[in-house]
Amino acid sequence: DVLLKKIAERLRSVLQTDETLARLGSDEFVLLLPQHDVEQARVRAEALHAVLRGSVMVNETNVVVSAGIGIAVYPEHGATTGVLLSHADGAMLRAKQGEDNICVYQPAQDRNAHGRLTMASDVYEALEKKQFALRFQPKYSLRDKRIVSAEALGYWLHEERGEVPPDIFIRVLEQSNLIHDYTYWAIGAALAQARIWRQYFRPLRVSVNVSPKTLMHADFLARLQQCVRSEEDGALLCFEITESLFLTEFDNLSRVLEQIRKLGITLSIDDYGTGYSSLNRLRRLPFSELKIDQSFIREMVSSKDDEVIVHSTIELAHNLGLRVVAEGVEDETTWARLEAMGCDMVQGFLMQPPLDAKSFNQLLDAEKG
Ligand code: C2E
Ligand code: MG
Ligand code: MG
Repeated sequence: DVLLKKIAERLRSVLQTDETLARLGSDEFVLLLPQHDVEQARVRAEALHAVLRGSVMVNETNVVVSAGIGIAVYPEHGATTGVLLSHADGAMLRAKQGEDNICVYQPAQDRNAHGRLTMASDVYEALEKKQFALRFQPKYSLRDKRIVSAEALGYWLHEERGEVPPDIFIRVLEQSNLIHDYTYWAIGAALAQARIWRQYFRPLRVSVNVSPKTLMHADFLARLQQCVRSEEDGALLCFEITESLFLTEFDNLSRVLEQIRKLGITLSIDDYGTGYSSLNRLRRLPFSELKIDQSFIREMVSSKDDEVIVHSTIELAHNLGLRVVAEGVEDETTWARLEAMGCDMVQGFLMQPPLDAKSFNQLLDAEKG
């Protein structure tokens, strides 16, 4: 935080009156320059880059920072804010990787990124036109084989591309910073569905995948409180957060997670085993569920190593007071092993793929009878 504030001050020191400087989140800033062409924007970028040179004193330590700057210009590089941001972001990534600290968006150079970049305008449109939908995959209790909760997964049927997998469109949403709006929509839609289930079937917690970037978004708690109005609402939600986040911004993260818990929402560690989080840190965060990544579950029957990892993770998680979900269970043998190991819940194609609400209702109906 100290470093970010100092950097922000330096950037502000060279701002001109008609320019707007904003922090997008984590270590990303955006500078809005009205009426600039590429060359004028480059001159401004050089001035900004110059003030970032030299070390920064943070708590009596000299920290050397480097910065990459990406430029996108209206209207050549895009007609909407979302597209411009996404293209500036793409150029910035090139700036961070390459020799030039300042890069201008270049459609021709970004050949393989092209599909992705045109998709930025597609996802923007999809959000505007409410073309995203949610599917729900049941999580089953291993003990009595009943549905205990559901995970909401994004679904997008594109007019020309067909079904676009969430891995892909989530990445595009994240790159263009549209992920925040998407996530608020997803939380609202999941909650609406959970209320219907509570009314007509039984209360089920619905898990929403919340992108780490959104969790750290300055508006997050305020926006969340607009959707989640009461403890009854909170009791219908769980947020799944991928493990990769936990290395950074620990204090910030811890504060946000505590606030989420206060709303009655539970927290789940997603894709456990793919990152490098230390359990010592994890145990200090208010999680109640841990999902073992499917890459371990898939191989656990054929690979002794994976079986040992899954088994010891279950034990460790239980000792830390966490419920354990195994993701990606595709066959009976895996189910039986997990049951023997004392795993709490399973989710996978063996039981059900992600379903639309209507098919999910049928499952709940069948359980009633
Ligand atoms: P995830 O949160 O780990 O979700 C589980 C993924 O595993 C889902 O893929 C699900 O369809 C798939 N899956 C479930 N059971 C099985 C199985 O038995 N075998 C196999 N091979 N796969 C199984 P999906 O729907 O393609 O989503 C992929 C990832 O995209 C999700 O991983 C999540 O990280 C992200 N995602 C999806 N929807 C959202 C969303 O609304 N917001 C955010 N931020 N991320 C989302
Ligand atoms: Mg998930
Ligand atoms: Mg997962």
